[in-house]
Amino acid sequence: MSELPKVYDPTATEERWYRHWEGRGYFHADEHRDGPRFSLVIPPPNVTGMLTMGHVLNNTLQDILVRFHRMEGENTLWMPGTDHAGIGTQNVVEKQLAKEGTNRHALGRERFVERVWAWKEQYGGVILRQLKRLGCSCDWERERFTMDPGLSAAVREAFVHLYDKGLIYRGLRIIHWCVRCRTALSDEEAVTTEGGEPGSLWHIRYPAADGGPGVVVATTRPETMLGDTAVAVHPDDERYRALVGKSVILPLMNRPIPVVADEHVDREFGTGAVKVTPAHDANDFEVAARHHLPSVTIMNLDGTISEAGGPYAGLDRFAARQRIVADLEQQGLLIKAQPYQVPVRRCHRCDTVIEPMLSTQWFVKMAPLAVPAIAAVKTGRLRLFPERWTGVYLHWMENIRDWCISRQLWWGHRIPVWYCHDCKDETVARTDPTVCRHCGSARITQDPDVLDTWFSSWLWPFSTMGWPDDTPTLRRFYPTDTLVTAADIIFFWVARMVMAGYEFMGECPFTDVCFNSIVRDSQGRKMSKSLGNSPDPLKVIDTYGADALRFTIASLAPIGQDVRFSEDKTEFGRNFANKIWNATRFALMNLGDGLVEPWGKIPPDPPLSKGGDPSGGGVGLPDRWILSRLETVIEETRANVAAYRLNDAATILYRFIWGELCDWYVELIKPVLYGGDEAAKAAARRTLVTALDAVMRLLHPFMPFLTEEIWQSLPMTRPADSIMIAPYPHATGAWRDTAAEAVVQQLIETVTAIRNIRSELGIPPTMALPIRVAADGNGARLRELEGYIKSLARVSGVELLGERERPSGEPSAVVSGIGEVFVPLRGVVDATAVRKRLEQDLGKVEKELKGIEAKLARPDFVAKAPEDIVDKERQRAMALRERRTVLERHLQQLGAEA
Ligand SMILES: [Zn+2]
Ligand SMILES: [Zn+2]
Repeated sequence: MSELPKVYDPTATEERWYRHWEGRGYFHADEHRDGPRFSLVIPPPNVTGMLTMGHVLNNTLQDILVRFHRMEGENTLWMPGTDHAGIGTQNVVEKQLAKEGTNRHALGRERFVERVWAWKEQYGGVILRQLKRLGCSCDWERERFTMDPGLSAAVREAFVHLYDKGLIYRGLRIIHWCVRCRTALSDEEAVTTEGGEPGSLWHIRYPAADGGPGVVVATTRPETMLGDTAVAVHPDDERYRALVGKSVILPLMNRPIPVVADEHVDREFGTGAVKVTPAHDANDFEVAARHHLPSVTIMNLDGTISEAGGPYAGLDRFAARQRIVADLEQQGLLIKAQPYQVPVRRCHRCDTVIEPMLSTQWFVKMAPLAVPAIAAVKTGRLRLFPERWTGVYLHWMENIRDWCISRQLWWGHRIPVWYCHDCKDETVARTDPTVCRHCGSARITQDPDVLDTWFSSWLWPFSTMGWPDDTPTLRRFYPTDTLVTAADIIFFWVARMVMAGYEFMGECPFTDVCFNSIVRDSQGRKMSKSLGNSPDPLKVIDTYGADALRFTIASLAPIGQDVRFSEDKTEFGRNFANKIWNATRFALMNLGDGLVEPWGKIPPDPPLSKGGDPSGGGVGLPDRWILSRLETVIEETRANVAAYRLNDAATILYRFIWGELCDWYVELIKPVLYGGDEAAKAAARRTLVTALDAVMRLLHPFMPFLTEEIWQSLPMTRPADSIMIAPYPHATGAWRDTAAEAVVQQLIETVTAIRNIRSELGIPPTMALPIRVAADGNGARLRELEGYIKSLARVSGVELLGERERPSGEPSAVVSGIGEVFVPLRGVVDATAVRKRLEQDLGKVEKELKGIEAKLARPDFVAKAPEDIVDKERQRAMALRERRTVLERHLQQLGAEA
């Protein structure tokens, strides 16, 4: 007889099994093995990353899919790795240098990059070790880093390929500049605040050069006026017709600038006259190009005003803004300042306000790349879950803009372009050139910039598999099957990977994309360091176990919907683990000493003949019921996993294991295990092992450690060394027994009804009661269930009432398919005392209900209280009303006796 320790200890168990699995190579995907396959690439966490609840959710979902497919016998690859995270990692090391009283410029580029590598070797990739604690079954033998030699070669190949095709170009454009990170950013990295940020719209008079009143322009960034080179009005705007072609004087700078007519001016905005600052605004840049206006850059790269800003040179941009507004006011040129929601973009990495700047950068022409990526979604080759992301994806793709890929950083893939000092031409090459390709001069210098981090990430699904080489891994595992990722990187990463997949591999990189939800705190706020509302997942794992955390988060998170999480919610998963543990302990103590084999395969072999005595002998109603239910649960679990409804699959398993297997089946077979005949006992034992074996396998992808521990303890012959490579259960329908399901359903309802009456009337659990049933034709069924009812509901006797016979003065409950169940109290309990207690209960219920109803009737409460509080009150009111109905019913029945 095997025995489990009294209490489940996740920590020791989890570490032991993880080592076992990894040691046996079960995580490894073999590119030389034939047959069906499943592959998936991890969204590479930043090399500086630490495990967050977002990672827990994302990686738990991936691991569930990966473990499921591995158990299906598929050759399964989960490719792990980290991203070099250009700005992020550079920031970390720069902070370290600042503490040492130095900076990267003092160190020089080469030594700085060495420092970053040293940092990466020492501290980088901690998050991958943390993923192991979570149980992630990545193929660690294949761990990749976006700056590995192989992946760097892929980046170089991609750049040269696109350059040669004319899809990469260098251009002077208005780009998003972060004055803190001191680099250009892509559109996606310059994040807009929804609805804008509170600011002002300043109305400023530009007097006419000939002494007239001139025009009033409106701006949210007055400091940029230092770089104005024109004022633009709409050609049809009567108000300004006379001014077009004339000059106004730019205040503070005292420079005459022309008034131009441009069709793109919005007559409704401000005064209808707009200032034109070509070097600091994307629209103005275009206006300037149409009218051949000069551009004046008035800001330095660190956000201070440059020499071109005259008296304001050297001031920070926001200090300059204040000074300029004050000066304008003093000169009587500030007409008004009106409160205004200003559209602002902020740096994705550091939240600093972005400055639009005229700058020469490298760009990728995206429109041609988007063509197959649009078709992929429209034809269904690529599916997005939830489906609503399809519209978002297509809208972005169809309006795609060129991608600014150069970054003024030192950490990253250096741009493979060399400029010639003699012929001024550029050389772009797969291997570092020593001379200019055009004139042969050796006087060449490489572009100092590096590439956007996402320029390596968009190659991830195939660069990790060896591209640009043609490798067996690539042939075996590309394209991948599913991508599970956070929705906030749909444009940064997902959309670009699709484009890269088609461009470089000629094939979509994945079939399905699942966007996982955002983990919020219990009040619905995003988890953040500054709010301190994010639990440390490793501490949660220490306290509750990885399985508990995985199961909780998977149950809470429908694909694509936000999750509200707090550490204590993990009790849900831990309680479930303990419930399973205790039920298994009970089972093991009652399985006898020898091996107890499950009914062959699931469904068992040989199949049972329904209703009769099967060849196995002794199979009882509870056995037939639980095996039939198991078939349904297997089907439903599989269907939900296949449709990425992992939370539904988790809920189905939870309800079946906790409610039906542990609470009912185990109770139903106790009399058989303790005193049944040998055939019945053997059948119940085999059924119990069959069910435990199956549910452990069904649950394994969700709770890998606990299921392995329990599965290994079952006294049966195992088909594999580990549950993680055992087959995932299949349903065939052979065990389907709808009759048994219907009967047990009636039994459960009857027992529940009697238990409820007992507790409502305050009858002690030890006291056995007789019941009387108005069965109306279901007498035979009742007799069949009598034994179970007696043992499960502490019933001393079951009396069948005659046709239309209804006793008075006895509380009752109606059970569908059985009839009305009466609990006679006469001579058993003091009916007067019971009535008195029920009346007191009713009084309390009514009082509480009245209070809640009054609260809910107050419009200010419903409008102002948090939604979940209002919901809770509503639910409480509903429960109280139900309770009131029950009490009134019992009182009425008791009263009839008096
Ligand atoms: Zn920044
Ligand atoms: Zn040259």
